[in-house]
Amino acid sequence: MNDDTVRAEVRAWLAANWNAEQGLVEWRTKLAGSGWGVPSWPSRWYGRDLPEGFVPVVEEEFARVGAIGVAKTGIRMLAAATILAHGTDMQREKFLLRILTGEDTWCQLFSEPGSGSDVAGAVTRAEFRGNQWVVNGQKVWTTSAHKADWGLLLARTDWDQPKHRGLSYFVIDMKQPGVAVHPLRQMNGYASFNQVFLTDAVVPPEMIVSTVGDGWTVTNTTLMHERRGADGLRGWARGSDLVGRIHDEERAEVAVALEPYRWYPQRAGRVDLVMPRAIESGAIHDPVVRQEVAKLLIMAKSAEWTARRARTAKEQGKPQGPEGSLGKLAASNIARAAARVHTQIAGASALLAGADGLGAGVVAEVLLSVPATSIAGGTDEIQRNIIAERVLKMPREASEDTKRPFREVPRNTIG
Ligand SMILES: Cc1cc2nc3c(=O)[nH]c(=O)nc-3n(C[C@H](O)[C@H](O)[C@H](O)COP(=O)(O)OP(=O)(O)OC[C@H]3O[C@@H](n4cnc5c(N)ncnc54)[C@H](O)[C@@H]3O)c2cc1C
Repeated sequence: MNDDTVRAEVRAWLAANWNAEQGLVEWRTKLAGSGWGVPSWPSRWYGRDLPEGFVPVVEEEFARVGAIGVAKTGIRMLAAATILAHGTDMQREKFLLRILTGEDTWCQLFSEPGSGSDVAGAVTRAEFRGNQWVVNGQKVWTTSAHKADWGLLLARTDWDQPKHRGLSYFVIDMKQPGVAVHPLRQMNGYASFNQVFLTDAVVPPEMIVSTVGDGWTVTNTTLMHERRGADGLRGWARGSDLVGRIHDEERAEVAVALEPYRWYPQRAGRVDLVMPRAIESGAIHDPVVRQEVAKLLIMAKSAEWTARRARTAKEQGKPQGPEGSLGKLAASNIARAAARVHTQIAGASALLAGADGLGAGVVAEVLLSVPATSIAGGTDEIQRNIIAERVLKMPREASEDTKRPFREVPRNTIG
């Protein structure tokens, strides 16, 4: 198997199967069955066991004919990666296909009012009563919870174990009476994340992912995939302008199910708009602005190379290195620098929001959205801690709360 044989095979399959007048779910079901939607996944689970290195070849062939891929955006790919790694066959049967077709929407219920960076400090409790888990507690900043069918839930199941060992990981049905979702309005005007109140919410026993007490390991799998994906956020939530029933349905999907991610390109800083804006406004002739534009483009280019190195390592089957955290940190620095350069170019008019604002308000939206990049998926400080400890091998921060039973750890939250 080489690039040419993979290319020929996927090209022949697309020629026989792709057309833009079929339904989106119908097409994605067919695609999942063929293995070409996620070729690096196991062949038993909708893939073709192909090394990651062939994925770009497959994607090129899809792009060449304008074919739509499986539903890859949103939290659903984090759910898929986690269930593939730690789930049971029953869970894989139930969830993976509907993730790929885009029929189910997911959210991630990790952060709580008292535990964001310190996610292992979660105090939402799950107790086994009768024949099911009963969950009580509060989650917050839960992106897409108001759209979600299913949630990835981290909850405490044993208070007598040390912090990291008393946690378990569940898939919870979001559409049940015990789950109340309240959207939060952000400073950029969107309401993409929520508070989630869990009051005697129930989870059947077969919906635990891995074993009781193994929640921290499973959580790390989800977070590793989230950080690794951080450099891909710019492409989220964009429909194509191609013609055909399937493209109409994809645009509807983007407008509804993926609406919470509409501002994600702005949160990454819109580096792509900097040079055109500098030329159009004449600011490119200002030597100070030129310097800043150059610095930004250099940062963006070197981050792209780091991401490519990470991809190549993955393609060669090497384990995940520090690139996830390095890439996440770079994305924050780039977003902040881009917001600064946009402002230098635009001056005070960068502050005008809404349709009358610069670029239909995009520049103002960039300014109000980039702070999210250095918080979501683990803050900059947490990435620096990870890099210090795992890459630079510096001694771990002294910690008082990881050895004794969690019940005895002083906290500022009730649980
Ligand atoms: C756009 C967006 C989407 C999000 N989506 C989700 C989601 O879908 N699901 C979900 O569960 N969560 C989500 N979050 C929450 C996010 O994971 C948390 O906000 C983040 O982990 C930080 O937690 P916190 O807000 O509680 O801040 P805190 O943990 O209270 O941190 C406050 C400050 O203290 C610093 N700090 C904390 N601990 C340390 C330390 N050990 N060393 C050095 N500095 C430290 C932090 O860096 C930060 O500057 C989202 C957040 C954003 C912004």
